[in-house]
Amino acid sequence: MNTNMSIPEIVSVNPATKKTIGSVSLTPLDQLPEIFLQAQKAKTYWTHLQRSKRAKILRNVRKKLVAHMDELSELIASETGKTNWEGFLEVFTTVEHLRHMCRFGAEYLEPEARSSGIFQNKKCYINYIPHGVVGVISPWNYPLILTSTPVVEALMAGNTVVLKPSELTPLTGKRMGELFHEAGIPENVLQVVQGLGDVGASIVDNQKIDMICFTGSVEVGRKIALACANKLKPVILELGGKDPMIVLEDANLERAAGAAVWGGFSNSGQTCISTERVYVVEDVADRFINLVKKKTEELSTGPDKTASDIGALINEQQQKRVLDHIKEAVANGAKILSGGKDLSELGGYFIKPTVLEAFDNNSDIMKKETFGPEICIVRVKDEDDAIEKANSSGYGLSASIFTKSKKRGRALAQRTTAGSVCINDVMTNYITADLPFGGVGVSGIGRVHGPEGLRSFCQTQSVLIDRFGLNKEPWWFPMSEGTKKLFKSLTKIIYG
Ligand code: NAD
Repeated sequence: MNTNMSIPEIVSVNPATKKTIGSVSLTPLDQLPEIFLQAQKAKTYWTHLQRSKRAKILRNVRKKLVAHMDELSELIASETGKTNWEGFLEVFTTVEHLRHMCRFGAEYLEPEARSSGIFQNKKCYINYIPHGVVGVISPWNYPLILTSTPVVEALMAGNTVVLKPSELTPLTGKRMGELFHEAGIPENVLQVVQGLGDVGASIVDNQKIDMICFTGSVEVGRKIALACANKLKPVILELGGKDPMIVLEDANLERAAGAAVWGGFSNSGQTCISTERVYVVEDVADRFINLVKKKTEELSTGPDKTASDIGALINEQQQKRVLDHIKEAVANGAKILSGGKDLSELGGYFIKPTVLEAFDNNSDIMKKETFGPEICIVRVKDEDDAIEKANSSGYGLSASIFTKSKKRGRALAQRTTAGSVCINDVMTNYITADLPFGGVGVSGIGRVHGPEGLRSFCQTQSVLIDRFGLNKEPWWFPMSEGTKKLFKSLTKIIYG
């Protein structure tokens, strides 16, 4: 952050080159109450707009993002150090989610009939009512998708939004806001504020913000959970992971190894659902490890955004954290099978994709989120051993299982502690817009995506209507002894 100028700025640096690429003005804390007030006022228009009209405007947003696809891919890559292809995949995932929300969002929010149970003279249904103003606080690792998706769901549900992008990727957040506005989202319906954690904390604390959707670390998520508990404010927490992959003896090893390399190293391993731990059954472990090593060694790492497979880490602190995890793992007996090298000589925060073999499931490398281009393989006896180890980290974001038997995969998925499970695939669940996404354990609370995700941005209002308009119900005052007797007899007949 640069505070030497009259208006303090956040400077954005390309982690692959360490060169400054731009800056944004920091939103002063004393301007936030007015921003929140405008968001409250904008509800009058946005909340009452027909669902189909909101979907139509969001369709324009989708088209706008596609029209700016190359510019956005390039900007994302420059701000995060990832490759242009990875930047493009973010845009692709964003527009696929938008397509789904525009197509099905209005339907997911339709009032839903419910049974009136024993009361045949009543009609019951559920309304999905927007919370009001949603504060969206997002991280840097996917600055477009993790920012736009909660924003789109909150808007589709009829909320207005105050968004705070990560201070490490402010330019993508700013550009996203501009494109949303150009596509027809009114200025006060979506407001982008820029700042550090104190701006985020002010959003969480303010009474004019009715709900929070936070994506980020467990550490900050805990603080937000406490602040929201204090205010009894609804909150979605999308937090970190330590995702396991299980490779059984009947797996397609070529596919499993390819998935481990993609799941572990794409986005330089800085994906909440990246594969960090691999449990492979002993019988096939040597063959699997050789395939993973070969595929890893074929990857190119470096600052050429168009030619490299693997880009940079976000900053020096993240690079150091990953290298420290690798060092600690080796000190605790793990073996480096590939990589393990600091590639700072390339001019940015690079690390060679690293494959480790660990012999102790309780070491830090198997417990703490690394968030870098590193996977750690552990040999296991069988599927029971694999599932016990996979479920032992305390995290529960997602997991993957490789087996040729889909029946076995489905059974094992049910025993996996994770919000999402892929069978013979990895990470694609996130792109699949109809599947709800979120964690269990320390990986978070609540869901985004799909009908469940969209409805998380709403209050569930239950409505009961009396159908016949009689002057009184039998249990209202006054109640005759005859009615009491009848009720008791009917209870015995119906429920006894
Ligand atoms: P972070 O928690 O440091 O920051 C996330 C956001 O919170 C930033 O915008 C930051 O400015 C803001 N913030 C910081 N302190 C705050 C406070 N006290 N109150 C309110 N806001 C505050 O996380 P990060 O380093 O940006 O992101 C990496 C983490 O995010 C990893 O742990 C990763 O696993 C997780 N993540 C989770 C998901 C998911 O969907 N579950 C997705 C991506 C990343």
